[in-house]
Amino acid sequence: MKTCCKCKQDLPRSAYYKDSSRLDGLEYRCKSCKRTPTPRPKKTKEERAAYLAQYYQDNKVRKNSQKVESRNRHTRQVPTDQSLMEKSAIRALYFISNVLSNSCGEGFHIDHIHPVSKGGLHEFDNLRILSAVENLKKGNKIVK
Ligand SMILES: [Zn+2]
Repeated sequence: MKTCCKCKQDLPRSAYYKDSSRLDGLEYRCKSCKRTPTPRPKKTKEERAAYLAQYYQDNKVRKNSQKVESRNRHTRQVPTDQSLMEKSAIRALYFISNVLSNSCGEGFHIDHIHPVSKGGLHEFDNLRILSAVENLKKGNKIVK
């Protein structure tokens, strides 16, 4: 005998479906309870909207700070006085590494010699083409 968690009745084991993940190998509610699940009160459209608005309010600060943080990180790494020449040079570098990757079958990355996470800038002098294997091995270490 086993007591159903839902209807609190003592029922024989045969009144339960099997559930191998549970200790006694049976589900916690009897077959008839499983077949008739208690209906959950449905939220109306307005209630749902109110809930979402509340959720957004509660998590606004966190969400915005993540956005700001990521934007700051990006603007910090790109020098503001970057010339058009330098921008094109960087774009060319990415293009070359792309061509290399496609023609060699081996992946090539653009490596920041002085890692961005260690204050390195996203400028031409700090970039070089490195094979993917080497770049991943290097990670954010500073290699002289
Ligand atoms: Zn039951």
